[in-house]
Amino acid sequence: MYPDVQLYIDGQWRASEDGRTIAVINPATGDTLGTVAHANIADLDQALAAAERGFETWRSTPAYDRYKIMQKAANLLRDRVDNIASIMTQEQGKPLAEARMETLAAADIIDWLAEEGRRAYGRLVPSRNVSVEQKVIKEPVGPVAAFTPWNFPINQVVRKLSSALAAGCSIIVKAPEETPASPAELIRAFIDAGVPAGVIGLVYGDPAQISSYLIAHPTIKKVTFTGSTPVGKQLAALAGQHMKRATMELGGHAPALVFDDADIDLAARTLATAKFRNAGQVCVSPTRILVQRGVFDAFVEKFVGLTHEVKVGNGLEQGVTMGPLANERRAPALSALVNDACEKGAKLHTGGKAIDGPGYFFQPTVLSGLTTDMRVMSEEPFGPLALLVPFDTVEDAVKESNRVPFGLASYAFTTSMKTAHILSTRIEAGMLSINHQGIGLVEVPFGGVKDSGYGSEGGTEAIEAYLNTKLVTVFNL
Ligand code: NAD
Repeated sequence: MYPDVQLYIDGQWRASEDGRTIAVINPATGDTLGTVAHANIADLDQALAAAERGFETWRSTPAYDRYKIMQKAANLLRDRVDNIASIMTQEQGKPLAEARMETLAAADIIDWLAEEGRRAYGRLVPSRNVSVEQKVIKEPVGPVAAFTPWNFPINQVVRKLSSALAAGCSIIVKAPEETPASPAELIRAFIDAGVPAGVIGLVYGDPAQISSYLIAHPTIKKVTFTGSTPVGKQLAALAGQHMKRATMELGGHAPALVFDDADIDLAARTLATAKFRNAGQVCVSPTRILVQRGVFDAFVEKFVGLTHEVKVGNGLEQGVTMGPLANERRAPALSALVNDACEKGAKLHTGGKAIDGPGYFFQPTVLSGLTTDMRVMSEEPFGPLALLVPFDTVEDAVKESNRVPFGLASYAFTTSMKTAHILSTRIEAGMLSINHQGIGLVEVPFGGVKDSGYGSEGGTEAIEAYLNTKLVTVFNL
């Protein structure tokens, strides 16, 4: 049922040069599911040489032909959704319905970015001399190195992969060792659709070894990473040292502001759904839920009630709405944050503990009575942890929203146009969603500011990140 996962280098699925593998664990049971190949430097050298050749092939493939191949990959993904979703749930833990949604959403992402690649227009700039022509040309940046995490094993790869391919770049993906098989299935769809050898490489292994080798290598012209802020800062520094273009999609600590005039039911339901999706292991998960004092008690009651409705269990079982945490590191990290907050006087409304038994399950947790000296108020929990905090004025809410160094997603619920306008100009975040969860669609930008990184993985900006701009100016003799 669960495949042993291989590397994909120069058009071949294969083991690593030295045969080394890493065990893959099912987070719902703690059992070993299979293995993933561990690349060494010789494997990376082969992947780099193939990416160099693949780039020459792919950049000279017309955008229309690239689009056709990508569209076929999207359809293969749709055809294979049942198998892929089951693999994803086994290795990552999320409920099957969420795994299906992620796989089908990936097909839509491929379609949209493939189309967008056909519109990577340049422009003609009117010149100061009638004999001079000034053209601006968009060119693919070159071979890309992409590093993706385990929380959305397919979604995190597909945005990078599809943008790079649509722009005409080749790409080496270092996919997550914890959840290797579903991203491998994504890449299989592209290979089966006809992407030529060398255009896509897929490796796993020691993340630090692979990133330091690939980013510094002269073949690689662009680096893209999704993961934690500390690792992102290291990789951005390395990219800077080698003058490589970089996109950094890093951590968040999203504020969600609920005002007195909001539809409280809608706010509680939307935020509870968003909070516990993928067990809170989502960079745009609402974390600091700031509620105006007049509706605070009513909101807490509703939110805690909705938290009790979350059904925790093995994502393969019907009716389960929250699976385990994706790996064994997460539960102790969450417990430490909850304990620190409770020792400093926070009120625990529900949850707060790892669940006994096999697997890495953690209770959906709600805290209030929070103060800014508690670690959880500034560190990304990356788990099913909701922090409910009262505020008095718009000014207070904006100040608290902007207090932390992160600036990825933010949410607000209000019926006041004036409040919405103030928030849209004052909140320091890459994304602000008002009165709904509207973040993450491929046609709109996706990215952060401040310590949440830079660059965008959605909208027209997504392709732009894989294109160089060249000026050609001609004096017509
Ligand atoms: P981590 O910081 O060790 O790793 C995060 C991701 O980066 C993993 O996929 C890992 O394989 C990769 N990574 C780590 N070191 C690397 C390196 N030197 N070069 C290249 N890749 C490297 O933490 P973790 O325990 O896996 O996850 C914990 C934290 O990571 C979370 O609390 C969260 O803040 C962050 N995270 C963020 C996202 C996101 O979507 N932005 C996804 C996963 C994890």
